Amino acid sequence: MLIRTTQQLIEAGLTNKNADLDAVAARYAIGITPAVAALIDRDDPNDPIARQFVPDVAELATTPDERADPIGDLAHSPVEGIVHRYPDRVLLKAVHVCPVYCRFCFRREMVGPQGLGTLTAPELDAAVGYIADHREIWEVILTGGDPLVLSPRRLREIMARLAGIDHVKIVRFHTRVPVVEPERIDQDMVEALKASGKTTYLAVHANHPREFTAGARRAIARLADGGVALISQSVLLRGINDNVETLVELMRAFVENRVKPYYLHHPDLAPGTSHFRIGIDEGQALVTALRGRISGLAQPTYVLDIPGGHGKADIGAASISGGDGCFTVRDWQGEEHRYPPQDR
Ligand code: SF4
Repeated sequence: MLIRTTQQLIEAGLTNKNADLDAVAARYAIGITPAVAALIDRDDPNDPIARQFVPDVAELATTPDERADPIGDLAHSPVEGIVHRYPDRVLLKAVHVCPVYCRFCFRREMVGPQGLGTLTAPELDAAVGYIADHREIWEVILTGGDPLVLSPRRLREIMARLAGIDHVKIVRFHTRVPVVEPERIDQDMVEALKASGKTTYLAVHANHPREFTAGARRAIARLADGGVALISQSVLLRGINDNVETLVELMRAFVENRVKPYYLHHPDLAPGTSHFRIGIDEGQALVTALRGRISGLAQPTYVLDIPGGHGKADIGAASISGGDGCFTVRDWQGEEHRYPPQDR
């Protein structure tokens, strides 16, 4: 059973704080799938899975720098459901619901039953029309909400419409479904994600190695075997994955499951999420440590979405400085070397 209320959280043994959490639930959606509920360790008060999905009274505290639209989607939305931030790609937000509601979600003011809803047929027409009218759009990224909550039939319809737009070559899905509701990834779903003449990428969102259950691994394998190219997306979160060992295991789990590590997000300034944020300097130290621990194949890019809608920036600590043909390059152990070398 899907858990959607504080009462259901109590019945599932996930909390005993009904009164306090009602205020959180009134503001932000709750969603925990059976697969996630089964993964939560009820005996661990700091369980990293519970922390991601079980509401906490800390969410009622907002800080002055937090904002309802932390990455500035609305500043770049020419029509409902489209975010056109960079010239060659758009987000297509067909739906604003998710199978789970992550407590750190960057779009928490927009997603959920009280959120922006699903695009109506005329709104979807206008969104697809916008993509068709802009020949510079090479890639369409379906995000949301989680696009894989849509039925295979709805996804096939959207893919068929994108297939009719010649200049769109890549369709990318961002989703939590393979991990939190793996049973949805059947052959019908895999086929629905593909369209003639387009290449499909799918970004799997996972933040802790324990999310790679047997069911999740099977779902991801089905996607990979079906010809969907897989990349990863994780958020660096205090108390969940803010240590080298967990990140090593997480990135290796992606690679072992044919998912190329892609983004490690610095958490956004979403309301009521300050308890998840670590300092950028701490994040840089972690990704520098990863360099010395795991294969280049397993390295994610540490990125910040610049508040206000200014796009992503790579914020990993710079390993090179200098200029005029003479640089200092830092290795993964922090030692500095001249480039070109001075010793002959
Ligand atoms: S699945 Fe994505 S959009 Fe949905 S609540 Fe989690 S982070 Fe937000």
